[in-house]
Amino acid sequence: MIIGAMNNPHKKLIEELMLFGEMNFDYAEITIEHPHARPEFIEKNKKDILDALSTYNLGIVTHLPWYFSLANPYERIEKATHTEFISAFRIAALLGAKKITLHTETLSPSIQSRESHVDGTIRSLKTLHKEAMNMGLDLLIENLDSKSFSVREFTRLFSEVDMGMTFDVGHANTAKGEGLETYLKHFAPRIRHVHLHDNMGQTDDHLPLGAGKIDVEKTVAALKEKYDGTITLEVHSEDRHYLEYSRQRLDILWHGKKKHLEDQNYLQPSRKE
Ligand SMILES: [Zn+2]
Repeated sequence: MIIGAMNNPHKKLIEELMLFGEMNFDYAEITIEHPHARPEFIEKNKKDILDALSTYNLGIVTHLPWYFSLANPYERIEKATHTEFISAFRIAALLGAKKITLHTETLSPSIQSRESHVDGTIRSLKTLHKEAMNMGLDLLIENLDSKSFSVREFTRLFSEVDMGMTFDVGHANTAKGEGLETYLKHFAPRIRHVHLHDNMGQTDDHLPLGAGKIDVEKTVAALKEKYDGTITLEVHSEDRHYLEYSRQRLDILWHGKKKHLEDQNYLQPSRKE
């Protein structure tokens, strides 16, 4: 298991990468997103970005904008979002990423029938998954909640598109999420990336580990039984020290306190406050 952090696209990307490096994260999950991590910016600043990653020996995974509709009932809009997705795939491949995550549909259910929403999502993912594969990328679909895409609908999706999943533990714990155990039971072999953050059990709060109602110890133990790969801490607190705290907490829960302390001997000299 390795631990990553995601840039806030409203902050300067290279500063974000340096912060994650100073905090001893293993990799950065770069969300290729407006305003400070748009494809054009990343392409233009590719060298500096790769330099920052290599200075801190940070690996990379990538994420697409979460707010683009995946299955818009307007064909021309669907085409336009596909163009944006594919442009981000190109940028991810340019940086050497191997994984890229996309959320399920975000359009309000009042806009189209559930049938058209599900059919459209599957149709789009068939195309996008193929495009991503051609660029050497593993396109992963992330759970939001049952309003967006239910466990039953994911089961249908995976029977038609042989793709992997990014399992977001926080999203599964919201009021309309269907719970960690249900996801692990149905999709464990498909999970190729994890997002971890806490919440109060209602909305998608993106809190530090332990600050919400998720039983972090139990959750990490359950994950560890079925999964061993990249885990991004999507902690969105304004004070970034919570991110560092969450990294230490996850490391200790996963590897044990003894190994966590031993590993400190091999880290880069820590940040001077
Ligand atoms: Zn997520």
